[in-house]
Amino acid sequence: MGKALIIGCGGVASVAIHKCCQNSEVFEEIMIASRTKSKCDALKAKLDGGKTIIHTAQVDADNKDELVALINSFKPDLVMNIALPYQDLTIMDACLECSVNYMDTANYEPENLDDPEWKAIYEKRCKEEGFSAYFDYSWQWAYKKKFEEAGLTALLGSGFDPGVTQAYCAYALKHEFDEIDTIDILDCNGGDHGYPFATNFNPEINLREVSAPGSYWENGHWVEIPAMSIKREYNFDQVGMKDMYLLHHEEIESLAKNIPGVKRIRFFMTFGQSYLTHMNCLENVGMLSTTPINYEGKEIVPIQFLKALLPDPASLGPRTKGKTNIGCIFTGKKDGKEKTYYLYNVCDHQECYQEVGSQAISYTTGVPAMIGAMMLLTGTWNKPGVYTVEEFDPDPYMEALNKWGLPWQESFEPVLVD
Ligand code: NDP
Repeated sequence: MGKALIIGCGGVASVAIHKCCQNSEVFEEIMIASRTKSKCDALKAKLDGGKTIIHTAQVDADNKDELVALINSFKPDLVMNIALPYQDLTIMDACLECSVNYMDTANYEPENLDDPEWKAIYEKRCKEEGFSAYFDYSWQWAYKKKFEEAGLTALLGSGFDPGVTQAYCAYALKHEFDEIDTIDILDCNGGDHGYPFATNFNPEINLREVSAPGSYWENGHWVEIPAMSIKREYNFDQVGMKDMYLLHHEEIESLAKNIPGVKRIRFFMTFGQSYLTHMNCLENVGMLSTTPINYEGKEIVPIQFLKALLPDPASLGPRTKGKTNIGCIFTGKKDGKEKTYYLYNVCDHQECYQEVGSQAISYTTGVPAMIGAMMLLTGTWNKPGVYTVEEFDPDPYMEALNKWGLPWQESFEPVLVD
């Protein structure tokens, strides 16, 4: 059916690439291109022999000209950005220049938070919008007109959260509700990797997200709270009782626009006490800082140094036992009556590892990355412009989740979060 250029070869990309190769009818030919080509070659060696033809290349995705040259030589139907959010805009620029569709798994965030040009725009947005996360959709939504005029589609954030959670919202709105009043997104990782401290995906991205102030959407505006200051307990199906904390999360921003009349949207993630104690300590001593310091004549960015010390998230696979449970609880109205509804997926770390050699966090992100790409490559989702997952028909995506390893479950009497 088509050709995809996949940028990045880390934890999430590895799962997406395994899944593309399982789905060779759609992904006839792929190119894996990343900063470290040896990782792409190792994955190709593991997966070669199936029906999907695999190529590899080295690319610096911060360099638009390099990307353009690569895209023009491979001529893909789609570019899948599974590198880091730092590269989103460069890759979108390259896609526009080469007239090819785009998708990613996380919205734009700058690598250098001290860049004065970015900072001025960021500070203005903090004041106007009322949330202070470093990432937001404005940078990529600004490409809407350009993609529309070029007749190209950019699909933003097709991982689990963002991604599947928005498909759940679109599905609930289409099939279960006339009106959605509240959405609580609950992200529970009941897995244990046996290390005192490690992050389940890119440490820099993960620690920045978790150490930032939390925020939620209520009655038409953002409410921001100090990091980790709203805590709840929830009894998750197949995982059990966990502490969870309210975080800011990117899909709240797009759902607030796209779910008509929604009154409140919150996002909770589970954390154990040991993780939080380590994180607070690292933050207090300055190890989460992105500002370079000079150490014995060499410039070091503390959080990048920390990343080098922590276990590689890709290495957690064989050690992680337990399950994830991620989903959305909805309240609203159907046929004039109040209604509650819970859509969620339970995923087993060890089963993921047996199948693709990765733990469930990479798996739950990599599978929807492949599915989003499939929606675009098959033309099932075809709408020129820049869109998030909830802006498309959820049914084919939801069907694909069941088929490709992330079956969903529903409950019509969920326990609500107060
Ligand atoms: P990793 O750090 O494991 O992988 C990132 C990959 O990108 C690496 O292969 C890295 O190369 C490559 N890369 C980084 N910079 C460049 C560059 N300038 N040029 C080319 N390649 C580059 O991250 P993850 O796999 O954990 O995460 C991937 C993405 O998925 C991130 O954007 C993350 O935010 C997102 N994510 C989304 C989730 C969701 O539910 N939506 C959940 C989890 C993650 P190298 O090997 O040389 O380091």
